[in-house]
Amino acid sequence: PVLTILDEESILSPQLLDLAQWIAQYYVAPVGEVLRAMLPLMSEVKKQELYRITDAGRAALFEGAEQGSSRRSRRSPEEQDIEYKALNYLEPGEAVRTATLRSATGVTRELLAGMLRKKWIARETTAAARDARRMVRYAVLVADARLPKLNENQQAILAELAGSGGELPVAELRRLEVPASTLGTLVKRELVRIEERPAEFHLTHLSKMHRPAHTLNPAQQAALDTITAAVETNEFRPHLLHGITGSGKTAVYLAAMQRALDRGKSAILLVPEIGLTPAMAAQLHHAFGAEVALLHSALTPEERSEQWHRIRRGEARVVVGTRSAVFAPVDHLGLIVVDEEHDSSYKQESMPRYHARDTAVMRAKLAGAAIVLGSATPSLESWHNARQGRYAQIEMHRRVMERPMPKVELVDMRREFQETGQEHLFSRALIERTQATLDRGEQAIILLNRRGYSFVVMCRACGEKLECENCSISLTYHKPVTLSDGRAPAGQRLECHYCGYKRNVPARCPKCDSEHLYFLGAGSQQGEERLQEIFPGARIGRMDRDTVRGRGDMERLLMRLHSGEINLLVGTQMIAKGHDIHGVTLVGVVGADFALGLPDFRAAERVFQLLTQVSGRAGRGELPGTVLVQTYHPDHYAITCAAEHDFHAFVEREMKYRKWMHYPPFASLANLIIQSPHLEEAAGWSATLGRWFQSTQLDGVRVLGPATAPLARIKRIYRFHLVLKAEKRGVLARTLRMALAHADAVGIPRRNLIVDVDAVSL
Ligand code: ADP
Ligand code: ZN
Ligand code: ZN
Repeated sequence: PVLTILDEESILSPQLLDLAQWIAQYYVAPVGEVLRAMLPLMSEVKKQELYRITDAGRAALFEGAEQGSSRRSRRSPEEQDIEYKALNYLEPGEAVRTATLRSATGVTRELLAGMLRKKWIARETTAAARDARRMVRYAVLVADARLPKLNENQQAILAELAGSGGELPVAELRRLEVPASTLGTLVKRELVRIEERPAEFHLTHLSKMHRPAHTLNPAQQAALDTITAAVETNEFRPHLLHGITGSGKTAVYLAAMQRALDRGKSAILLVPEIGLTPAMAAQLHHAFGAEVALLHSALTPEERSEQWHRIRRGEARVVVGTRSAVFAPVDHLGLIVVDEEHDSSYKQESMPRYHARDTAVMRAKLAGAAIVLGSATPSLESWHNARQGRYAQIEMHRRVMERPMPKVELVDMRREFQETGQEHLFSRALIERTQATLDRGEQAIILLNRRGYSFVVMCRACGEKLECENCSISLTYHKPVTLSDGRAPAGQRLECHYCGYKRNVPARCPKCDSEHLYFLGAGSQQGEERLQEIFPGARIGRMDRDTVRGRGDMERLLMRLHSGEINLLVGTQMIAKGHDIHGVTLVGVVGADFALGLPDFRAAERVFQLLTQVSGRAGRGELPGTVLVQTYHPDHYAITCAAEHDFHAFVEREMKYRKWMHYPPFASLANLIIQSPHLEEAAGWSATLGRWFQSTQLDGVRVLGPATAPLARIKRIYRFHLVLKAEKRGVLARTLRMALAHADAVGIPRRNLIVDVDAVSL
């Protein structure tokens, strides 16, 4: 008997359910996990508890802690302190979630109950989704900041506000790591005002970055016509759009999406993890207004869920987002565009381990939609598909406005060392060119693809490298930033970039007790410091995951670059991604060929892509660009082909190697990881599975290993792996299923195995 009907209709369309089945089959994942990844988070229906400060609470706060101490004598001074902190955190006009309040101030449920009784705070409950439409609180500077008797923290906030045009979302000020009460004090002293604004407010900031649309040039128009024709047929029509950097692909995507809309269809644009730049968002809003739903990584689960329902109700027919936007519940799908289709962030690195690009192709097939995979450096997989005739190909080989490609020069760092007798981070040529660029009033970008100050700390006496407690990974040294008075704030400086483990720099080598620890390998933080020494007059900015934590950070850095406030930008591969800064005429590349030595069959492809993409940032405006690549491998084809902007030559070469070695795209590949916190267990299980593969007659499958995984230990878990290669995709999945069944039979728990089909890193 049917007891109750939970939903009138299925939450997921039949098309998405079919897609889920395909993913489960192809990636050998439980279908439940796939469905979970497709759905918005359940928190949508969950009520949440919020607290507001009352007038009585504000009065108590301003009276100070000591005054009421006799009345509140039942609580210890520590508890009173926490109450004070909590009141301070609750600023007028804002309702704060219990969890946020508790983690920020350490306030307990008992203390909150007491504060409720005293009517210092009020509680309200609200559905999470309503909160998603919450207001953003802005701090607005209202007076001249140079007033006497301001402490350092207060000055820091005022300086930050002054530096950002006088206003900033309050949340972004928390980054300054000053006590939350500081802002409250500034408000009390009427130096700063808090304003509530709808969350969309910052779009007006963005629109400053919007450039008017251009009439498409003939190459763009031809690409658009081809795609539009595909949209109209209601047939599955995959296209690979190979368009060099600066050929104007974005304009084509947007126009094609508009065409789909005009025909009553919807469209999805997938972008890489940090590909949704503020400039792109501005363009999208300009083009599609309220029809667009943006699904970026900075959304809270509630906001994401809100967007999901907007899409499902048909209020937004254009969806732009990262990886999981491929599951957007749109109806009448007419077009999917995958921008920068080669980007490895399309692969999900947790269960279900789907590749959003390939999933997008399958979704388009199920929907009878057109799909465009676009890139200046297509993946070998997509290129191979095009060559086999599975994808039609569109080429855009010229930059817009006949702008020339930048000239790429290689600096042989071996010769540099011989001639100068010293190892320098920056070559003489790069220094000279940078100086000349800055002198001409132009901008330069320097890629140093590691964050932190030094990425190896080594003992001179015994050679020991300082490693993470939990992972087989070198610790990265982060230099403390000195405050204006020369002090360095306390904090731990050695960091594991995998698990987040932190520790202080030890005074002595943990192995041999020598004092001679030294720091090797320059990261972007050190790059910035050196550049400041070499070019004291330069206005330097840094872009890496330490300086870009939230969306606002990226936006502000790019604005400063656009406006010319920054004329020299150093950073990790983040700087290579799609930015369109017209003043940049010089790009320097430092140490990017290091990656050629990594034990990864895609190493050459990755280096080629990175060099091509970062070179593509130069000369996008009126003035031509130059790229200087410092390298120890000036003859390697990944470097020479990138220098000549010769994608085809690179692909020829790389395809031969892949074919010979039976690597993708000539074989399907899966990585089977065996993991356990106990070394013996992981080793034993991997040997068991290895023997099974050896003894089983497997047609058309090659098995490598078992061996210790390249990252042999992560977060205290030991890892071994087997690599499977098969010419037929179906064979691979079948073999993996058999192997899992065997593992089950011999008692290897499923949670100790990771199956990664089409792994992007082994
Ligand atoms: P890609 O993504 O191919 O590297 P973009 O789409 O970022 O290139 O476009 C590069 C630049 O060219 C942008 O500044 C864009 O505004 C501009 N642009 C695009 N189409 C045209 C056109 N038809 N005429 C002039 N400029 C254009
Ligand atoms: Zn030592
Ligand atoms: Zn670690």
